[in-house]
Amino acid sequence: MTAAVAADDQSLSLWRATAAPAPATAALEGRAEADVAIVGAGYTGLSCALALAEAGREVVVLEAQEIGHGAPGRNGGQVIPGLKHDPEELVARLGHERGEALVRLTGGAADRVFALIAKHRIDCAATQCGWIQPAHSAAAAKTIVERARQWTARHAPVELLAGARLASALGTDVYRAGWLDRRAGALQPLSYVRGLARVALAAGVRLHTQSPATQIMRDDGEWLVRTPRGEGRARQIVLATDAYSGALWPELVVNQLIVTSVQTATAPLPDAIRRAILPHGNVASDTRRLLYYFRVDAAGRFIIGGRGSATDEVSERVYATLQRAAIRMYPALADVQWPCRWYGRVGITRDWLPHLAEVAPGVWAALGYCGRGVAMATTLGLVLGDMLTGGGRLAYPVASLAPIPWHALRGPMLRAGIAYYRMLDTMS
Ligand SMILES: Cc1cc2nc3c(=O)[nH]c(=O)nc-3n(C[C@H](O)[C@H](O)[C@H](O)COP(=O)(O)OP(=O)(O)OC[C@H]3O[C@@H](n4cnc5c(N)ncnc54)[C@H](O)[C@@H]3O)c2cc1C
Repeated sequence: MTAAVAADDQSLSLWRATAAPAPATAALEGRAEADVAIVGAGYTGLSCALALAEAGREVVVLEAQEIGHGAPGRNGGQVIPGLKHDPEELVARLGHERGEALVRLTGGAADRVFALIAKHRIDCAATQCGWIQPAHSAAAAKTIVERARQWTARHAPVELLAGARLASALGTDVYRAGWLDRRAGALQPLSYVRGLARVALAAGVRLHTQSPATQIMRDDGEWLVRTPRGEGRARQIVLATDAYSGALWPELVVNQLIVTSVQTATAPLPDAIRRAILPHGNVASDTRRLLYYFRVDAAGRFIIGGRGSATDEVSERVYATLQRAAIRMYPALADVQWPCRWYGRVGITRDWLPHLAEVAPGVWAALGYCGRGVAMATTLGLVLGDMLTGGGRLAYPVASLAPIPWHALRGPMLRAGIAYYRMLDTMS
């Protein structure tokens, strides 16, 4: 099994331009022995590495490129608790006890991130400022009322927003209804993953960048992970490669559909414009199937993102569409420059749930965050670290990976699906 990780252009990424520096790391040369070898230095890999190291395990992390090369260096920085499924749906799927335990785990995912950041003093502009999910249609408004009811019943600090209150919180009246989840917040996503790396290194983790795992094989009762100039040996392996999984372990690739999510950002806005957009400092993402997500960063830049492409090719047209959507909401943005643009891959699973699986004896994978990975990838990394050390403090359902049917036809299927969703979003 061999790996390939696509390179792409992030030169106009806002996060690259404003992130805290990465700790110094080097490629693996020669042999590294550990209890656990982790492939991928993103949120999943590094939070797992940290949990393992804090429990006294020897850990080596192998990253093909740089820390946060995947989605942690590219996402919207919105720290949102919960999954795409509402609490009662999870309980219906898993039964009362397991379902409610999962609701507690996922509902606490944002608190867990902010607590980790505070504990380790990670410098990443983190603020638990609350997330608004505005409804784009009457049907979506009903869903939101129900969602807020279910979380309120579980004592989550959430509230419905409508009319003038919603318009004043968003700074626009284009949405009909919404809800505010105060557990959520914002951070600089690349600074966060670099901070996690720094903390993991301080806890004793060995972290090698520019070290793609090219082959994993069983050898003398252990797992051997080859890289171009070295090899790692461990009793257990964690595959934390999510939407950036290559051919190293093909089962991970057919378990998800990959869509490209795209973002663009302004320069720091003049105060008068800045004060009118999301004036209470919340972040937002709407209910469309191909959703818009938007926020303002610590320096007052407006950032908007959206889904849509089925490949890593992103045309000027996609950025222009996002900018037009932003101007529809906030007409004052019509005359500002948009110097930043970037994109990344999102992995979507068949059941819209993240998957935790033992894909071979002692080889674990956690992936498929469906666009909600800042809090959930951190959480699943910690869950896995806890599981591998027999901690039993956190639990997530373990299941086999399920290949997406007709995965080989994903290109045309995704393009058709995106066009269909766009049509439904326009009609509803
Ligand atoms: C544009 C965009 C916007 C998003 N916005 C949000 C948001 O606002 N809020 C939210 O919660 N989620 C968001 N997400 C999703 C979230 O970012 C991801 O779910 C999360 O970052 C996944 O992290 P990870 O650690 O599991 O994987 P990643 O870190 O993405 O991936 C794996 C790492 O593995 C490495 N790798 C791959 N193959 C190998 C190999 N063979 N050897 C060694 N290393 C390898 C890659 O280089 C990469 O660094 C967004 C995603 C994107 C792309």
